[in-house]
Amino acid sequence: MTDAETAWAAGLFEGEGCICLMPETTRWGGNRRRPWVALSISSTDRDVLERFHMIVGVGGVTFHHRGARPHHKPCWAWHLSARDKVEALLSSFMPWLGQRRRAKAQEALALLAEQRQIRKCEYCGGSFESYHGFQRFCCKKHQEKAWYEQSKASGDRTAYSRSHYLRNREAYLERSRKQHARDKASQIA
Ligand SMILES: [Zn+2]
Repeated sequence: MTDAETAWAAGLFEGEGCICLMPETTRWGGNRRRPWVALSISSTDRDVLERFHMIVGVGGVTFHHRGARPHHKPCWAWHLSARDKVEALLSSFMPWLGQRRRAKAQEALALLAEQRQIRKCEYCGGSFESYHGFQRFCCKKHQEKAWYEQSKASGDRTAYSRSHYLRNREAYLERSRKQHARDKASQIA
């Protein structure tokens, strides 16, 4: 990003964007998600969002909704919630944000910084930095290995299917991406 590009992106974000501080949630099945920060911009101009996306290089642009009434224009949204990327992006926008937005951004950065902590991997014993208080392994590989060994030891199918999922993760993701693209295409049509 050049300074001019960052300034343009920060300006768009200041005018149209949203910093949402999300509370901790518990999803069905017991997955907990620690407090997180969601950044988003909604617009009916897809090209503006695509340009923003190209400049910042993170997050994604999705088709938002078609609008409740026939005269509503289709709406697009850029959004980002990966904690490390949110931190980096907000920090780079900081000099260009107005006073009110800057205060909100600082609040978000403080929330993220508070969660970042050094943890010990339960598989290899190495230390790693994480935003997730529940994260037990330094990487997917070690998580997979630990689950696999656990499933072999206990005969627990849940742990086994998790490790199976992780080993075939790329294939699963590719399949869901294709399905997503098909869904999107049928939405637009
Ligand atoms: Zn490890």
